[in-house]
Amino acid sequence: MAFAANSVHFLFLCLAVAVFPAVDVSAAGGSARGDDEAVLVDPRLGLAFPRVVREAARLLENGACRLLLRDFSDDRTGLPLEETLAALDTSPAIFLRSIRFRSGREDPRCFSPYRMAYVVPGNRDVVICPALYNGVHRQYGDSTVVIVLHEALHAMGLGENPPGSREITTAVEHRCSR
Ligand SMILES: [Zn+2]
Repeated sequence: MAFAANSVHFLFLCLAVAVFPAVDVSAAGGSARGDDEAVLVDPRLGLAFPRVVREAARLLENGACRLLLRDFSDDRTGLPLEETLAALDTSPAIFLRSIRFRSGREDPRCFSPYRMAYVVPGNRDVVICPALYNGVHRQYGDSTVVIVLHEALHAMGLGENPPGSREITTAVEHRCSR
């Protein structure tokens, strides 16, 4: 795989790793709505998290926020992320709702109090660490939806370092602020 050691990153932080806990979230977090806004969210992330994911999907589909898909490229192809989605014949919102968000509460890779999440670039499994739902990120002015969008860009294929974690988050805030 094209992602080497430099794809391990520390936003405060997301970390790229290769093995995920076997938690089935396929029926969780909103699929009971029976509509096209179903999301794949581990219920341990709380009742609000599916709403955050839907909001992130809505933002990424439209307006300036969607320009993130031109700002950043897929490490595997070197092409803008919008080309990755085009190759998959999917939209930003549909892609985002296809990401599985899992709880990392008992995952040793989440033991750092500053690690928000980890994901392998190009992989649609995102592990959300307790620091995120404990609100550590808010000390730095980052909203949960910004973190979700940051992780979604990684899931589409964006690596890190470069671009730096803070650079990615700042771009998300700039493009997607309402
Ligand atoms: Zn990151």
